[in-house]
Amino acid sequence: MTPKTDSGIIIIEINKEGEKKMEKMKKVFLDLDGTLVRFNVERALERFDNEKGFFANLLAFDNIEIVNKLATKGNLFIISASPNEQADKDKMEWIKKYLPNICLDNITICRIGENKAKIIQEKYAVTFDASCFLLDDYTKNLWEWEQMGGIGIKRLTVDADNSTNKWKGLTLSSLEELINFC
Ligand SMILES: [Mg+2]
Repeated sequence: MTPKTDSGIIIIEINKEGEKKMEKMKKVFLDLDGTLVRFNVERALERFDNEKGFFANLLAFDNIEIVNKLATKGNLFIISASPNEQADKDKMEWIKKYLPNICLDNITICRIGENKAKIIQEKYAVTFDASCFLLDDYTKNLWEWEQMGGIGIKRLTVDADNSTNKWKGLTLSSLEELINFC
């Protein structure tokens, strides 16, 4: 399902005359592995844990340049789980290479197994509402995001096709569809 969204802003306040409206920009948080990064390589999990530079050399999915272009608006964020400090560095290198328009303040690397929604809530003054999205291939992360009040978008790829139909919410098959959420 490809969602049709509005122009990317929502009305949050009307002044006392009822005329002027305040508008709020959407925030879109992006996972890396299996969402922006092609993680489907041999012995990926083992190499990810132990091999220096492994993550930095992984390829991006098609249309990553569209994501980088959209990032100039400042409302795209990265939230990615990593097993150790070496992988943290490698991930930062990957982001620098493919998404140079995402500023440092918008990047969060957490540890594997942590609740991404909680990490983001603690780090930023984010209101988890219909303007706060998480794009992720891992359904558990999306459920936790929606429990907090945000909107999950399931990233569909050849490796994560939602064939078990566990996820009932929004989905995204190609990164160019991200424009609908920004
Ligand atoms: Mg992932």
